[in-house]
Amino acid sequence: MEIFDFTIHELHDRLKKKELSSVEATRAMLARIEAIDATVNAFITVTPEEALASAAEADSRIARGEMDLLTGIPIALKDIFLTKGVRTTCASRILENFVPPYDATSWLKLKERGAVLVGKLNQDEFAMGSSCESSAFGPSRNPWNTEFTPGGSSGGSAACIAARQAIATLGTDTGGSIRQPAAHCGCVGLKPTYGRVSRYGVIAYASSLDQVGPVTRDVRDAAIMLGAIAGHDPMDSTSVNRPVPDYTRSLTGEVKGLKVGLPKEYFIDGLDPEVQQAMELAIETYRGMGAEFVEISLPHTDYAVACYYLIATAEASSNLARYDGVRFGHRCQDPQGLLEMYRRSRAEGFGTEVKRRIMLGTYALSSGYYDAYYLKAQKVRTLIMQDFLKAFESVDVILTPVTPTPAFRLGEKCNDPLQMYLSDIFTIPTNLAGTCGISVPAGMSSDGLPIGLQLIGRPFGEEEIIRAAHAFEQATTWHQQKAPL
Ligand code: GLN
Repeated sequence: MEIFDFTIHELHDRLKKKELSSVEATRAMLARIEAIDATVNAFITVTPEEALASAAEADSRIARGEMDLLTGIPIALKDIFLTKGVRTTCASRILENFVPPYDATSWLKLKERGAVLVGKLNQDEFAMGSSCESSAFGPSRNPWNTEFTPGGSSGGSAACIAARQAIATLGTDTGGSIRQPAAHCGCVGLKPTYGRVSRYGVIAYASSLDQVGPVTRDVRDAAIMLGAIAGHDPMDSTSVNRPVPDYTRSLTGEVKGLKVGLPKEYFIDGLDPEVQQAMELAIETYRGMGAEFVEISLPHTDYAVACYYLIATAEASSNLARYDGVRFGHRCQDPQGLLEMYRRSRAEGFGTEVKRRIMLGTYALSSGYYDAYYLKAQKVRTLIMQDFLKAFESVDVILTPVTPTPAFRLGEKCNDPLQMYLSDIFTIPTNLAGTCGISVPAGMSSDGLPIGLQLIGRPFGEEEIIRAAHAFEQATTWHQQKAPL
Protein backbone atom coordinates (compact mmCIF):
# COMPACT_ATOMS: atom_id res chain seq x y z
CA MET A 1 0.00 0.00 0.00
CA GLU A 2 1.29 3.45 -0.92
CA ILE A 3 1.02 6.48 1.34
CA PHE A 4 -1.45 8.08 -1.05
CA ASP A 5 -3.79 5.07 -0.73
CA PHE A 6 -4.48 5.69 2.95
CA THR A 7 -7.77 6.78 4.45
CA ILE A 8 -7.81 9.51 7.11
CA HIS A 9 -7.97 6.95 9.91
CA GLU A 10 -5.17 4.81 8.44
CA LEU A 11 -2.85 7.77 7.96
CA HIS A 12 -3.75 9.08 11.41
CA ASP A 13 -2.60 5.79 12.96
CA ARG A 14 0.76 6.02 11.17
CA LEU A 15 1.24 9.65 12.16
CA LYS A 16 0.36 8.87 15.74
CA LYS A 17 2.81 5.97 15.92
CA LYS A 18 5.42 8.23 14.29
CA GLU A 19 5.91 5.70 11.49
CA LEU A 20 5.39 8.57 9.09
CA SER A 21 5.46 12.35 9.30
CA SER A 22 2.94 14.73 7.82
CA VAL A 23 5.71 16.21 5.68
CA GLU A 24 6.40 12.76 4.20
CA ALA A 25 2.72 12.14 3.60
CA THR A 26 2.29 15.57 2.02
CA ARG A 27 5.31 15.04 -0.24
CA ALA A 28 3.80 11.73 -1.35
CA MET A 29 0.53 13.43 -2.27
CA LEU A 30 2.30 16.25 -4.11
CA ALA A 31 4.39 13.75 -6.06
CA ARG A 32 1.26 11.83 -6.98
CA ILE A 33 -0.45 15.02 -8.16
CA GLU A 34 2.63 15.92 -10.19
CA ALA A 35 2.71 12.45 -11.75
CA ILE A 36 -0.92 12.10 -12.82
CA ASP A 37 -2.78 15.37 -12.74
CA ALA A 38 -1.91 16.20 -16.34
CA THR A 39 -4.19 13.24 -17.13
CA VAL A 40 -6.90 13.65 -14.47
CA ASN A 41 -7.04 17.46 -14.26
CA ALA A 42 -8.57 17.27 -10.81
CA PHE A 43 -6.75 20.40 -9.65
CA ILE A 44 -7.10 24.02 -10.67
CA THR A 45 -4.42 25.16 -8.23
CA VAL A 46 -1.81 23.09 -6.38
CA THR A 47 -0.30 24.68 -3.26
CA PRO A 48 3.00 22.88 -2.56
CA GLU A 49 4.75 25.58 -0.47
CA GLU A 50 1.77 26.25 1.78
CA ALA A 51 1.15 22.52 2.10
CA LEU A 52 4.70 21.69 3.16
CA ALA A 53 4.76 24.60 5.63
CA SER A 54 1.51 23.49 7.29
CA ALA A 55 2.66 19.86 7.26
CA ALA A 56 5.81 20.90 9.15
CA GLU A 57 3.64 22.75 11.64
CA ALA A 58 1.41 19.71 12.00
CA ASP A 59 4.48 17.59 12.70
CA SER A 60 5.51 19.88 15.54
CA ARG A 61 1.98 19.68 16.95
CA ILE A 62 2.20 15.92 16.77
CA ALA A 63 5.61 16.00 18.50
CA ARG A 64 4.04 18.09 21.29
CA GLY A 65 1.30 15.48 21.62
CA GLU A 66 -1.40 17.91 20.49
CA MET A 67 -2.90 15.84 17.76
CA ASP A 68 -6.40 15.00 16.69
CA LEU A 69 -7.77 12.91 13.85
CA LEU A 70 -7.17 15.55 11.20
CA THR A 71 -3.76 16.82 12.24
CA GLY A 72 -1.30 16.43 9.40
CA ILE A 73 -3.83 14.93 6.95
CA PRO A 74 -3.42 16.21 3.35
CA ILE A 75 -6.78 17.30 1.99
CA ALA A 76 -8.02 19.28 -1.01
CA LEU A 77 -11.02 21.56 -1.49
CA LYS A 78 -13.39 22.25 -4.34
CA ASP A 79 -12.45 25.65 -5.75
CA ILE A 80 -15.74 27.10 -4.45
CA PHE A 81 -14.39 27.38 -0.87
CA LEU A 82 -12.73 30.66 -0.04
CA THR A 83 -9.16 30.07 1.09
CA LYS A 84 -7.37 33.07 2.53
CA GLY A 85 -4.38 33.96 0.38
CA VAL A 86 -4.97 31.07 -2.05
CA ARG A 87 -6.59 31.79 -5.42
CA THR A 88 -10.24 30.74 -5.58
CA THR A 89 -11.78 30.67 -9.07
CA CYS A 90 -15.05 28.69 -8.83
CA ALA A 91 -13.78 27.37 -12.19
CA SER A 92 -14.76 30.67 -13.83
CA ARG A 93 -12.79 33.16 -15.92
CA ILE A 94 -14.56 35.88 -14.00
CA LEU A 95 -12.69 34.88 -10.81
CA GLU A 96 -9.53 33.71 -12.53
CA ASN A 97 -7.30 35.94 -10.40
CA PHE A 98 -9.39 36.23 -7.26
CA VAL A 99 -7.49 35.78 -3.99
CA PRO A 100 -9.91 35.77 -1.03
CA PRO A 101 -9.19 37.80 2.11
CA TYR A 102 -10.75 35.21 4.45
CA ASP A 103 -11.44 31.49 4.87
CA ALA A 104 -14.71 29.59 4.50
CA THR A 105 -15.82 28.37 7.94
CA SER A 106 -15.72 24.70 6.94
CA TRP A 107 -12.12 25.05 5.75
CA LEU A 108 -11.15 27.11 8.79
CA LYS A 109 -12.43 24.34 11.06
CA LEU A 110 -10.27 21.75 9.28
CA LYS A 111 -7.27 24.08 9.22
CA GLU A 112 -7.51 24.81 12.95
CA ARG A 113 -7.32 21.08 13.59
CA GLY A 114 -4.14 20.86 11.56
CA ALA A 115 -5.37 19.57 8.18
CA VAL A 116 -2.98 20.32 5.30
CA LEU A 117 -4.34 21.89 2.10
CA VAL A 118 -2.63 20.50 -1.02
CA GLY A 119 -4.75 22.39 -3.54
CA LYS A 120 -8.03 23.59 -5.00
CA LEU A 121 -10.14 21.27 -7.10
CA ASN A 122 -11.81 21.49 -10.45
CA GLN A 123 -15.59 21.69 -10.76
CA ASP A 124 -18.27 22.93 -13.08
CA GLU A 125 -18.26 26.71 -13.36
CA PHE A 126 -20.08 28.11 -10.32
CA ALA A 127 -21.08 24.49 -9.59
CA MET A 128 -23.52 24.51 -12.50
CA GLY A 129 -23.28 21.16 -14.21
CA SER A 130 -23.02 17.43 -13.80
CA SER A 131 -19.77 16.61 -15.59
CA CYS A 132 -17.08 19.21 -14.84
CA GLU A 133 -17.22 20.13 -18.51
CA SER A 134 -18.39 23.69 -17.85
CA SER A 135 -15.11 24.46 -16.02
CA ALA A 136 -13.12 27.29 -17.58
CA PHE A 137 -10.02 25.19 -16.82
CA GLY A 138 -10.93 22.18 -18.94
CA PRO A 139 -12.81 19.09 -17.75
CA SER A 140 -11.57 16.64 -15.15
CA ARG A 141 -11.39 13.04 -16.26
CA ASN A 142 -12.74 9.94 -14.59
CA PRO A 143 -9.81 7.95 -13.12
CA TRP A 144 -11.62 4.68 -13.91
CA ASN A 145 -11.62 5.51 -17.60
CA THR A 146 -10.31 8.84 -18.79
CA GLU A 147 -12.69 8.92 -21.77
CA PHE A 148 -15.49 9.43 -19.25
CA THR A 149 -16.44 12.38 -17.07
CA PRO A 150 -16.05 12.09 -13.31
CA GLY A 151 -19.50 13.68 -12.91
CA GLY A 152 -20.06 17.07 -11.38
CA SER A 153 -20.14 19.61 -10.21
CA SER A 154 -17.66 18.41 -7.54
CA GLY A 155 -15.99 16.26 -10.22
CA GLY A 156 -12.49 17.31 -9.17
CA SER A 157 -13.22 16.31 -5.56
CA ALA A 158 -14.31 12.81 -6.58
CA ALA A 159 -11.64 12.35 -9.29
CA CYS A 160 -8.98 13.43 -6.79
CA ILE A 161 -10.10 10.80 -4.26
CA ALA A 162 -10.39 8.05 -6.88
CA ALA A 163 -6.96 8.97 -8.30
CA ARG A 164 -5.58 9.14 -4.74
CA GLN A 165 -4.24 12.69 -4.97
CA ALA A 166 -5.49 13.74 -1.52
CA ILE A 167 -6.70 11.76 1.50
CA ALA A 168 -10.07 13.52 1.75
CA THR A 169 -11.86 16.40 0.07
CA LEU A 170 -14.79 18.74 0.51
CA GLY A 171 -17.38 19.46 -2.14
CA THR A 172 -20.75 21.17 -2.30
CA ASP A 173 -24.10 19.74 -3.26
CA THR A 174 -26.94 21.89 -4.60
CA GLY A 175 -28.70 19.24 -6.66
CA GLY A 176 -26.41 16.24 -6.40
CA SER A 177 -22.93 17.64 -6.87
CA ILE A 178 -21.35 15.60 -4.08
CA ARG A 179 -23.29 12.35 -4.45
CA GLN A 180 -23.31 12.05 -8.26
CA PRO A 181 -19.53 12.45 -8.83
CA ALA A 182 -18.85 10.24 -5.77
CA ALA A 183 -21.01 7.54 -7.40
CA HIS A 184 -19.31 7.94 -10.79
CA CYS A 185 -15.83 7.71 -9.26
CA GLY A 186 -16.44 4.98 -6.66
CA CYS A 187 -16.11 7.24 -3.60
CA VAL A 188 -18.25 8.03 -0.60
CA GLY A 189 -20.06 11.39 -0.80
CA LEU A 190 -22.25 12.86 1.92
CA LYS A 191 -24.68 15.75 1.55
CA PRO A 192 -25.68 16.88 5.02
CA THR A 193 -29.07 18.31 5.96
CA TYR A 194 -29.50 21.95 4.95
CA GLY A 195 -28.22 23.99 7.89
CA ARG A 196 -25.95 21.28 9.31
CA VAL A 197 -22.76 22.86 7.90
CA SER A 198 -22.03 26.58 7.57
CA ARG A 199 -22.09 28.02 4.05
CA TYR A 200 -20.07 31.06 5.10
CA GLY A 201 -17.25 31.61 2.63
CA VAL A 202 -18.66 29.17 0.08
CA ILE A 203 -19.32 30.93 -3.21
CA ALA A 204 -23.11 30.95 -3.52
CA TYR A 205 -24.91 29.22 -6.38
CA ALA A 206 -28.46 28.62 -5.06
CA SER A 207 -28.42 29.59 -1.41
CA SER A 208 -31.53 27.69 -0.28
CA LEU A 209 -30.13 24.44 -1.71
CA ASP A 210 -26.32 24.66 -1.35
CA GLN A 211 -24.73 22.48 1.30
CA VAL A 212 -21.11 21.53 2.08
CA GLY A 213 -20.03 17.92 2.56
CA PRO A 214 -17.15 15.45 2.31
CA VAL A 215 -16.02 13.19 -0.54
CA THR A 216 -13.89 10.40 0.91
CA ARG A 217 -12.60 6.86 0.44
CA ASP A 218 -14.83 5.27 3.06
CA VAL A 219 -17.77 5.96 5.36
CA ARG A 220 -15.59 6.31 8.46
CA ASP A 221 -13.72 9.19 6.81
CA ALA A 222 -17.02 10.82 5.82
CA ALA A 223 -18.15 10.60 9.47
CA ILE A 224 -14.85 12.12 10.65
CA MET A 225 -15.04 14.98 8.15
CA LEU A 226 -18.70 15.72 8.83
CA GLY A 227 -18.07 15.84 12.57
CA ALA A 228 -15.27 18.33 11.94
CA ILE A 229 -17.22 20.76 9.75
CA ALA A 230 -20.76 20.57 11.17
CA GLY A 231 -22.26 23.00 13.65
CA HIS A 232 -23.67 26.44 14.15
CA ASP A 233 -21.83 29.42 12.73
CA PRO A 234 -22.86 32.96 13.68
CA MET A 235 -21.69 34.01 10.19
CA ASP A 236 -24.37 31.88 8.48
CA SER A 237 -27.87 32.53 9.80
CA THR A 238 -29.15 29.37 8.09
CA SER A 239 -26.75 27.13 10.00
CA VAL A 240 -28.65 25.35 12.75
CA ASN A 241 -27.81 25.49 16.40
CA ARG A 242 -28.08 21.91 17.49
CA PRO A 243 -25.43 19.66 19.00
CA VAL A 244 -23.03 17.86 16.67
CA PRO A 245 -22.98 14.16 17.52
CA ASP A 246 -19.84 12.07 17.30
CA TYR A 247 -20.70 10.52 13.95
CA THR A 248 -18.03 7.82 14.32
CA ARG A 249 -20.21 6.31 17.06
CA SER A 250 -22.70 5.37 14.34
CA LEU A 251 -20.17 3.00 12.79
CA THR A 252 -21.64 -0.03 14.49
CA GLY A 253 -22.22 -2.29 11.49
CA GLU A 254 -25.70 -2.90 12.90
CA VAL A 255 -28.84 -2.58 10.73
CA LYS A 256 -31.06 -5.26 12.22
CA GLY A 257 -34.65 -4.02 12.21
CA LEU A 258 -33.78 -0.90 10.18
CA LYS A 259 -36.80 0.07 8.08
CA VAL A 260 -35.74 0.92 4.55
CA GLY A 261 -38.10 2.54 2.06
CA LEU A 262 -37.92 1.85 -1.68
CA PRO A 263 -39.65 4.69 -3.56
CA LYS A 264 -41.48 3.24 -6.53
CA GLU A 265 -40.92 6.45 -8.51
CA TYR A 266 -37.14 5.80 -8.46
CA PHE A 267 -37.18 2.29 -9.83
CA ILE A 268 -38.34 3.17 -13.30
CA ASP A 269 -38.00 1.88 -16.86
CA GLY A 270 -35.20 4.21 -17.91
CA LEU A 271 -32.92 2.83 -15.22
CA ASP A 272 -29.76 1.24 -16.60
CA PRO A 273 -30.05 -2.57 -16.12
CA GLU A 274 -26.66 -2.77 -14.43
CA VAL A 275 -27.66 -0.04 -11.97
CA GLN A 276 -30.93 -1.88 -11.35
CA GLN A 277 -29.03 -5.09 -10.72
CA ALA A 278 -26.63 -3.39 -8.29
CA MET A 279 -29.63 -2.06 -6.35
CA GLU A 280 -31.18 -5.52 -6.19
CA LEU A 281 -27.92 -6.96 -4.88
CA ALA A 282 -27.68 -4.18 -2.30
CA ILE A 283 -31.22 -4.91 -1.12
CA GLU A 284 -30.29 -8.60 -0.77
CA THR A 285 -27.22 -7.67 1.23
CA TYR A 286 -29.25 -5.52 3.60
CA ARG A 287 -31.91 -8.18 3.97
CA GLY A 288 -29.18 -10.64 4.93
CA MET A 289 -28.19 -8.26 7.72
CA GLY A 290 -31.72 -8.01 9.04
CA ALA A 291 -32.96 -4.77 7.47
CA GLU A 292 -36.62 -4.64 6.46
CA PHE A 293 -37.87 -3.20 3.18
CA VAL A 294 -41.12 -1.39 2.45
CA GLU A 295 -42.29 0.08 -0.83
CA ILE A 296 -43.05 3.77 -0.44
CA SER A 297 -44.26 6.54 -2.73
CA LEU A 298 -42.82 10.00 -3.24
CA PRO A 299 -45.61 11.13 -5.56
CA HIS A 300 -44.21 14.52 -6.61
CA THR A 301 -40.88 13.13 -7.82
CA ASP A 302 -41.79 13.82 -11.45
CA TYR A 303 -41.82 17.55 -10.84
CA ALA A 304 -38.52 17.75 -9.00
CA VAL A 305 -36.18 18.49 -11.91
CA ALA A 306 -38.41 21.25 -13.33
CA CYS A 307 -38.94 22.73 -9.88
CA TYR A 308 -35.20 22.66 -9.17
CA TYR A 309 -34.26 24.37 -12.42
CA LEU A 310 -36.62 27.25 -11.61
CA ILE A 311 -35.51 27.74 -8.01
CA ALA A 312 -31.79 27.13 -8.59
CA THR A 313 -31.59 29.42 -11.62
CA ALA A 314 -33.65 32.15 -9.93
CA GLU A 315 -31.33 32.15 -6.93
CA ALA A 316 -28.27 31.96 -9.18
CA SER A 317 -29.35 34.96 -11.24
CA SER A 318 -29.60 36.96 -8.05
CA ASN A 319 -26.39 35.62 -6.44
CA LEU A 320 -24.33 36.15 -9.57
CA ALA A 321 -25.41 39.78 -9.94
CA ARG A 322 -22.44 40.71 -7.74
CA TYR A 323 -19.94 39.86 -10.49
CA ASP A 324 -20.19 43.18 -12.27
CA GLY A 325 -16.55 44.15 -12.73
CA VAL A 326 -16.66 46.54 -9.76
CA ARG A 327 -15.68 44.57 -6.67
CA PHE A 328 -14.98 41.01 -7.71
CA GLY A 329 -13.00 39.47 -10.47
CA HIS A 330 -12.69 40.30 -14.12
CA ARG A 331 -13.23 43.82 -15.49
CA CYS A 332 -13.23 44.38 -19.25
CA GLN A 333 -10.67 46.67 -20.92
CA ASP A 334 -11.53 50.31 -21.68
CA PRO A 335 -15.30 50.30 -21.20
CA GLN A 336 -17.24 53.25 -22.57
CA GLY A 337 -19.28 53.95 -19.45
CA LEU A 338 -20.77 51.97 -16.59
CA LEU A 339 -23.37 49.92 -18.44
CA GLU A 340 -20.88 48.77 -21.00
CA MET A 341 -18.51 47.79 -18.21
CA TYR A 342 -21.16 45.61 -16.59
CA ARG A 343 -22.17 44.08 -19.89
CA ARG A 344 -18.77 43.32 -21.28
CA SER A 345 -17.22 42.21 -17.98
CA ARG A 346 -20.00 39.67 -17.55
CA ALA A 347 -20.07 38.63 -21.21
CA GLU A 348 -16.31 38.01 -21.17
CA GLY A 349 -16.17 36.44 -17.69
CA PHE A 350 -19.03 33.95 -17.62
CA GLY A 351 -19.22 30.73 -19.64
CA THR A 352 -22.19 29.50 -21.69
CA GLU A 353 -23.90 27.37 -19.04
CA VAL A 354 -23.69 30.13 -16.42
CA LYS A 355 -25.16 32.63 -18.89
CA ARG A 356 -27.96 30.22 -19.77
CA ARG A 357 -28.85 29.87 -16.09
CA ILE A 358 -28.71 33.61 -15.38
CA MET A 359 -31.11 34.18 -18.27
CA LEU A 360 -33.49 31.39 -17.20
CA GLY A 361 -33.47 32.62 -13.62
CA THR A 362 -33.97 36.25 -14.51
CA TYR A 363 -36.91 35.25 -16.68
CA ALA A 364 -38.46 33.12 -13.91
CA LEU A 365 -38.26 36.06 -11.52
CA SER A 366 -39.44 38.76 -13.91
CA SER A 367 -42.71 40.52 -13.24
CA GLY A 368 -45.58 38.84 -15.03
CA TYR A 369 -43.85 35.43 -14.89
CA TYR A 370 -42.93 35.32 -11.21
CA ASP A 371 -46.24 33.79 -10.08
CA ALA A 372 -46.36 31.24 -12.85
CA TYR A 373 -42.78 30.05 -12.42
CA TYR A 374 -40.92 30.98 -9.26
CA LEU A 375 -43.87 31.06 -6.89
CA LYS A 376 -45.32 27.90 -8.35
CA ALA A 377 -41.96 26.15 -8.00
CA GLN A 378 -41.81 27.13 -4.33
CA LYS A 379 -45.21 25.52 -3.80
CA VAL A 380 -44.12 22.35 -5.57
CA ARG A 381 -41.02 22.33 -3.40
CA THR A 382 -43.22 22.23 -0.31
CA LEU A 383 -45.11 19.25 -1.72
CA ILE A 384 -41.84 17.43 -2.38
CA MET A 385 -40.71 18.15 1.16
CA GLN A 386 -44.01 16.79 2.50
CA ASP A 387 -43.58 13.60 0.44
CA PHE A 388 -40.35 12.90 2.30
CA LEU A 389 -41.69 13.79 5.75
CA LYS A 390 -44.63 11.51 5.19
CA ALA A 391 -42.37 8.66 4.02
CA PHE A 392 -40.20 9.05 7.12
CA GLU A 393 -43.22 8.39 9.32
CA SER A 394 -42.92 4.74 8.31
CA VAL A 395 -39.25 4.22 7.35
CA ASP A 396 -35.85 5.13 8.82
CA VAL A 397 -33.96 5.56 5.56
CA ILE A 398 -34.75 5.53 1.85
CA LEU A 399 -32.65 3.50 -0.60
CA THR A 400 -32.30 4.58 -4.25
CA PRO A 401 -29.73 4.61 -7.04
CA VAL A 402 -27.62 7.79 -7.07
CA THR A 403 -27.85 8.14 -10.85
CA PRO A 404 -29.86 6.43 -13.60
CA THR A 405 -26.66 5.31 -15.41
CA PRO A 406 -22.94 4.98 -14.65
CA ALA A 407 -20.63 7.82 -15.76
CA PHE A 408 -21.10 9.12 -19.31
CA ARG A 409 -18.51 9.93 -21.95
CA LEU A 410 -16.83 13.32 -22.19
CA GLY A 411 -18.78 15.38 -24.68
CA GLU A 412 -21.76 13.02 -24.70
CA LYS A 413 -24.26 15.43 -23.14
CA CYS A 414 -22.59 18.78 -23.79
CA ASN A 415 -24.96 19.85 -26.52
CA ASP A 416 -28.06 18.59 -24.78
CA PRO A 417 -28.58 20.51 -21.53
CA LEU A 418 -31.84 18.70 -20.83
CA GLN A 419 -30.13 15.28 -20.87
CA MET A 420 -27.43 16.70 -18.60
CA TYR A 421 -30.07 18.05 -16.20
CA LEU A 422 -31.79 14.67 -16.07
CA SER A 423 -28.69 12.94 -14.74
CA ASP A 424 -29.53 14.43 -11.31
CA ILE A 425 -33.07 13.11 -11.23
CA PHE A 426 -32.48 10.97 -8.09
CA THR A 427 -30.42 13.47 -6.13
CA ILE A 428 -32.30 16.74 -6.70
CA PRO A 429 -35.39 15.89 -4.58
CA THR A 430 -33.22 15.54 -1.45
CA ASN A 431 -31.93 19.09 -1.89
CA LEU A 432 -35.43 20.44 -2.44
CA ALA A 433 -36.55 18.66 0.73
CA GLY A 434 -33.47 19.96 2.57
CA THR A 435 -32.63 16.57 3.96
CA CYS A 436 -29.46 14.44 3.95
CA GLY A 437 -28.14 11.74 1.61
CA ILE A 438 -25.04 9.64 1.20
CA SER A 439 -23.62 7.88 -1.84
CA VAL A 440 -21.60 4.67 -1.37
CA PRO A 441 -19.95 2.37 -3.91
CA ALA A 442 -22.29 -0.53 -4.70
CA GLY A 443 -21.18 -2.11 -7.93
CA MET A 444 -19.26 -1.95 -11.17
CA SER A 445 -20.59 -1.83 -14.71
CA SER A 446 -19.37 -4.25 -17.38
CA ASP A 447 -17.32 -1.30 -18.72
CA GLY A 448 -15.52 -1.06 -15.39
CA LEU A 449 -17.29 2.07 -14.15
CA PRO A 450 -18.48 2.40 -10.55
CA ILE A 451 -22.15 2.36 -9.55
CA GLY A 452 -23.40 4.18 -6.45
CA LEU A 453 -26.11 3.51 -3.91
CA GLN A 454 -27.91 6.39 -2.23
CA LEU A 455 -29.32 6.37 1.28
CA ILE A 456 -31.55 9.31 2.12
CA GLY A 457 -32.19 10.17 5.76
CA ARG A 458 -34.57 12.29 7.83
CA PRO A 459 -33.66 15.91 8.35
CA PHE A 460 -30.65 15.74 10.71
CA GLY A 461 -30.68 11.96 10.35
CA GLU A 462 -27.00 11.81 9.34
CA GLU A 463 -26.29 9.23 12.05
CA GLU A 464 -28.77 6.80 10.53
CA ILE A 465 -27.51 7.05 6.96
CA ILE A 466 -23.91 6.81 8.16
CA ARG A 467 -24.76 3.68 10.14
CA ALA A 468 -26.60 2.10 7.19
CA ALA A 469 -23.88 3.07 4.68
CA HIS A 470 -21.11 1.77 6.91
CA ALA A 471 -22.89 -1.54 7.49
CA PHE A 472 -23.17 -1.98 3.71
CA GLU A 473 -19.50 -1.13 3.29
CA GLN A 474 -18.57 -3.72 5.93
CA ALA A 475 -20.51 -6.36 4.03
CA THR A 476 -19.08 -5.56 0.57
CA THR A 477 -15.75 -4.81 -1.08
CA TRP A 478 -16.74 -2.20 -3.68
CA HIS A 479 -15.04 0.63 -1.78
CA GLN A 480 -11.74 -1.27 -1.77
CA GLN A 481 -11.47 -1.37 -5.55
CA LYS A 482 -8.96 1.03 -7.01
CA ALA A 483 -9.12 3.03 -10.19
CA PRO A 484 -6.46 1.82 -12.65
CA LEU A 485 -4.32 4.93 -12.51
N1 GLN B 1 -26.13 19.33 -11.81
C1 GLN B 1 -26.95 20.17 -11.00
C2 GLN B 1 -26.89 21.59 -11.54
O1 GLN B 1 -26.30 21.74 -12.52
C3 GLN B 1 -26.47 20.15 -9.57
C4 GLN B 1 -25.25 20.93 -9.36
C5 GLN B 1 -24.86 21.03 -7.93
O2 GLN B 1 -25.31 20.27 -7.08
N2 GLN B 1 -24.05 22.04 -7.66
O3 GLN B 1 -27.44 22.51 -11.01
